[in-house]
Amino acid sequence: MQDSVAHSDDDLAQIRDSVRALCADFPGEYWRELDRERAYPSAFVKALTEAGFLAALIPENYGGSGLPMRAASAIMEEIHAAGCNGAACHAQMYTMGTILRYGSEAQKRRYLPKIASGELRLQAFGVTEPTSGTDTLSLRTTARRDGNDAYVVNGQKIWTSRAEYSDLMLLLARTTPKDQVKSRTEGLSVFIVEMRGKDGKPTQGLTIKPIRTMMNHATTEVFFEDLRVPAENLIGEEGKGFRYILGGMNAERILIASECIGDAKWFIDKATAYARSRELFGRAIGQNQGVQFPIARAYAQMRAAELMVHEAARLYDAGAQPGEQANMAKLLAADASWAAADMCVQTHGGFGFAEEYDIERKFRETRLYQVAPISTNLILSYLSEHVLGLPRSY
Ligand SMILES: Cc1cc2nc3c(=O)[nH]c(=O)nc-3n(C[C@H](O)[C@H](O)[C@H](O)COP(=O)(O)OP(=O)(O)OC[C@H]3O[C@@H](n4cnc5c(N)ncnc54)[C@H](O)[C@@H]3O)c2cc1C
Repeated sequence: MQDSVAHSDDDLAQIRDSVRALCADFPGEYWRELDRERAYPSAFVKALTEAGFLAALIPENYGGSGLPMRAASAIMEEIHAAGCNGAACHAQMYTMGTILRYGSEAQKRRYLPKIASGELRLQAFGVTEPTSGTDTLSLRTTARRDGNDAYVVNGQKIWTSRAEYSDLMLLLARTTPKDQVKSRTEGLSVFIVEMRGKDGKPTQGLTIKPIRTMMNHATTEVFFEDLRVPAENLIGEEGKGFRYILGGMNAERILIASECIGDAKWFIDKATAYARSRELFGRAIGQNQGVQFPIARAYAQMRAAELMVHEAARLYDAGAQPGEQANMAKLLAADASWAAADMCVQTHGGFGFAEEYDIERKFRETRLYQVAPISTNLILSYLSEHVLGLPRSY
């Protein structure tokens, strides 16, 4: 049983307190400075790793803390509610699930303890490509078997976040041409790619180019030119990779939704405090219903989304594949954080735009979750087809 530690709400409260205490060492100035430079929050990631939070979902027998999803969800939420940003390291939490669920015992023993200790970082997840985008089954990066011991990878990924700060990448590539597969979801395979040599430089055949974005996200383009990947780094069976990646999506959705809930709480706290303290026309602006109501609405929206996040995490921990709930949690939480962000700017008037209030930074950061890791339309399309039984639209 995975949840050996965090059975009760008391345990979760302790985890929440510890995350909050850690985050207190990384205040707004820390993130502002990094944001200006578009620099990676190395000290923050190091602190999270050393405290064991990034190994929350790794079972104890592989060196992690073997906590349930609801604990991981609480960790990500608290990080964001404290004004920090888990995007620098959240991929480690959900990508390692693919190794855990579908990897061989040898792969687990080789990688998981080192990921848990922080010796290896598994932060890069290479799925999206410039031409295929959301249409994952049309991706073009190929992995061709070369003899018994290796695959040779050629192609390009885009938006591979944290590739410059990761030792390992989970890569989805085509191993059988699209026109030769029996079923459209077959022919893709997942690999663990070791991205650096002993000198710390990118492995031969791998080129990483940063993309500057509207927020500080350390995202990149990655080019593969005859990159050799040992055959033993194939996860599970060749050709079944799409299924393995889909299997990890629920965890990803739940964790990102938790970040959005944290963001929404941060915006609501900021707005509430400001509405109480800012005095105009001889009274606090928060005394005006025109200011109160948007805050109250954002709070109600956040609380409703939070319930769905808890429900998705509960089902996940019970061993279900909660596709419906995880997708709805992501949709509702991303909408709640974006609505709260907009409300928070409005409540602050001009100061909402000033860097030193951190609101404009968090506003930019939380906007991402309408698009990544899956866009709102694609969630709606999932619900339409798989939950409501409407005709497939694409
Ligand atoms: C900062 C950032 C970090 C990211 N990190 C990673 C990462 O680490 N690894 C990774 O693999 N990917 C990553 N992504 C990629 C992300 O998952 C994609 O951007 C996202 O899935 C949308 O794909 P796209 O950008 O190709 O848009 P497209 O697929 O080109 O879609 C464009 C628009 O059309 C809409 N659309 C497309 N098809 C349909 C349809 N059938 N019906 C209705 N609407 C549709 C979409 O909703 C979207 O709004 C990241 C993206 C960003 C911006």
